[in-house]
Amino acid sequence: MRMILLGPPGAGKGTQAKTLAQKLDLPHISTGDLLRQNVSQGTNLGKQAKDFMNKGALVPDELVTEMLKQRVTQPDTGNGFILDGYPRNINQAKALDDMLKERNDAIDIVIYLDSSEPVIIQRLSGRLVCSACGGNFHAANMPPKVNMICDNCQGKLYQRSDDKPQTIKKRLQVYLEESSPLIQYYNDKHKLYRLSADEDKDVVLSRIIDLAKEHNDPHKV
Ligand code: AMP
Repeated sequence: MRMILLGPPGAGKGTQAKTLAQKLDLPHISTGDLLRQNVSQGTNLGKQAKDFMNKGALVPDELVTEMLKQRVTQPDTGNGFILDGYPRNINQAKALDDMLKERNDAIDIVIYLDSSEPVIIQRLSGRLVCSACGGNFHAANMPPKVNMICDNCQGKLYQRSDDKPQTIKKRLQVYLEESSPLIQYYNDKHKLYRLSADEDKDVVLSRIIDLAKEHNDPHKV
């Protein structure tokens, strides 16, 4: 199953993708996580991407697409993957189609997590991320048991530098201009399922799992 999670920043793509990856036994591929790893390791790619990320802008397509291509050709993607954060515009969606076509593959299902702006801003401004395992918490909605320490691995939690108010606004604007046309793109291909992401995360998760199962059902007409 090759699944894309689509939606604005803060819709919960990362949180859902992490749990889904475990439940469906598929790798979770987040271009944001891959880029942040490159930035923290000081690679060439990281150096080129850092300023764009700090401004809330998109990293140039050629850089991200090349990075993704290397990741989706790893052996662990044989049964599929859950993509989170890619594609971010139509150009990337076409690059992804081409990349998969070379392997006689295609995207099976696109879940669009729809969310309202006040919810997005509240989620992003309180988001805390574990520096060790990448787990997500929230200062108000999902606080860790011990202040700024990850419940799962005891790593230190931090606030992403692009989760500051000004950068959040910029990211939402970039989403509307560049990424939202993807909704139409995948709807036209009859691959899009729209869910409200403002509901409880467990409710959203079980809806996604139901859709994935339905989609995998060979008897479905
Ligand atoms: P995310 O973790 O998905 O919110 O991504 C964080 C930042 O990484 C974004 O604001 C962009 O600067 C960059 N980024 C992640 N994925 C992409 C992509 N597919 N294309 C361009 N930039 C990306």
